[in-house]
Amino acid sequence: MQLRVARLCLDCEEVHDDYQCPVCASDQFTYLTRWVPVPERRQRPRPAPAPSKELEAYRRLIHGEPEPPKGRFLARALVGLGAAGVVGLFLGGRRARSSSDGDPGSGDE
Ligand SMILES: [Zn+2]
Repeated sequence: MQLRVARLCLDCEEVHDDYQCPVCASDQFTYLTRWVPVPERRQRPRPAPAPSKELEAYRRLIHGEPEPPKGRFLARALVGLGAAGVVGLFLGGRRARSSSDGDPGSGDE
């Protein structure tokens, strides 16, 4: 039996942890911690939980802080990929056009 839950029967002085005294069936009791101090179970405070990504995003929105560089890098990489795709389409179209222009067999003029 732990000291935190130990109860002293006020009628027969039995120590128990039930709602009724197991000896005299009395429901008059008091906790032993009233006289015996119990040290705090947790010696050290619980470590603070790591902030979640959502919480960080809300905090940035509220305080107007810039995004972390990791997100910026990803955005730049996506923009670069898009630009490379557009340039590739442009060059590919030009190459196809120049090859059709240089074809001597299909002279429509
Ligand atoms: Zn009792």
